[in-house]
Amino acid sequence: MSLAAVDPEIAELIKAEERRQANTVKLIPSENYVSKAVLEATGTVLTNKYSEGYAGKRYYEGQQVIDQIETLAIERAKALFGVPYANVQPYSGSPANLAIYMAFLSPGDTVMGMGLPFGGHLTHGWSVSATGKWFNPVRYGVRRDTGRIDMDEVRSLALEHRPKLIFCGGTAIPRQIDFPAFAEIAREVGAVLAADIAHIAGLIAGGAHPSPVGHADVISTTTHKTLRGPRGAMLMASTEEHAKALDKAVFPGLQGGPHNHTTAAIAVALKEAATPEFSAYAHKVVANAKTLADELLARGFDLVSGGTDNHLILIDLTSKGVGGKPAAQALDRAGLETNYNTVPFDPRKPFDPSGIRIGTPSVTSRGMGEQEMRQIAAWMDEVVTALAKGDAEEVITRVRAEVSELTRAFPTPGLDG
Ligand SMILES: *Cc1c(COP(=O)(O)O)cnc(C)c1O
Repeated sequence: MSLAAVDPEIAELIKAEERRQANTVKLIPSENYVSKAVLEATGTVLTNKYSEGYAGKRYYEGQQVIDQIETLAIERAKALFGVPYANVQPYSGSPANLAIYMAFLSPGDTVMGMGLPFGGHLTHGWSVSATGKWFNPVRYGVRRDTGRIDMDEVRSLALEHRPKLIFCGGTAIPRQIDFPAFAEIAREVGAVLAADIAHIAGLIAGGAHPSPVGHADVISTTTHKTLRGPRGAMLMASTEEHAKALDKAVFPGLQGGPHNHTTAAIAVALKEAATPEFSAYAHKVVANAKTLADELLARGFDLVSGGTDNHLILIDLTSKGVGGKPAAQALDRAGLETNYNTVPFDPRKPFDPSGIRIGTPSVTSRGMGEQEMRQIAAWMDEVVTALAKGDAEEVITRVRAEVSELTRAFPTPGLDG
């Protein structure tokens, strides 16, 4: 029986979410639209199969097909990123990062990562995360004057605290990560360097951001952000030195059976990411972000670090006289989906911060370009300016209609295409 017949309530809610995704301009930088092929692979009978272990060494019988699927995914990851080792089993980005701790640290050991309010991820040792509770976290940030990572601060903190593990990369960093500089510091203090490329994996695969390969000891990434795959994650490494420790940390250290339907969809996404079309996509994501940033700057928006080199823009709304949360809510009602976010040295509280975070991976997947970026910046300015004046209703209603009209001209991958 079809889903609609078994559970019309859930079927209708899924349809409603499809309509919502098609009919809004998605600017959340960690999201994307997967292709029809990736979507199809996730909804298959592979979800029925248990396969604890690794290809050739499983704890259940009947792995004739699953072994081939997982091996294909691994080989494609190795070829795409130019690494000798990949593990495609982590359930998501957070468990992938936990596996790095499991492989290299004992509870109480020191880990250094970017602080959450500066753009780091929870799993890089933030206080509310297990990684901040069970390990000893040391945090670096950005310079107040440039909004960029201060490598001198990173080095002196590393020399002072001697972390066993250093994370670079994050969730709200609008600039390129200097992997060689991090590698030099990690070498100096004898730390393992982990590059968390969750946000930028697709840009790296497409040649639109430098790669950490050859610099980082271990690389973790989600597969569902710029890489445009299913919700999942991978661990990779520049050498085979740590392969056994990382494999053992994922299984049996942290996880049971891998999600084989996700593994298959990761393999499909990696095949897509190896094409010239995907490389063009990655470069277009960056070009669109630059255009959007320039258009926002021209309208008086204050951007953290003054702009962007990647897919992401962090806006400090203080100069516009509105908070991040009311702005994000008003923009969402206008059909422009963003998220509120802390900005470096934010004087406001994390649940009511000064900024919003936007990005171009999703709009670029829909085929939008320069002209649409200009339009989006103009809409954002209209909504935020009206909100600051305290009467945004009329503007929100008009922009909502204009957004709907624009989205009709740009089909949603996976849904209409
Ligand atoms: C998204 C993200 C993660 C976590 O991924 P989940 O799949 O949400 O667990 C980890 N690190 C960074 C830098 C991220 O951006």
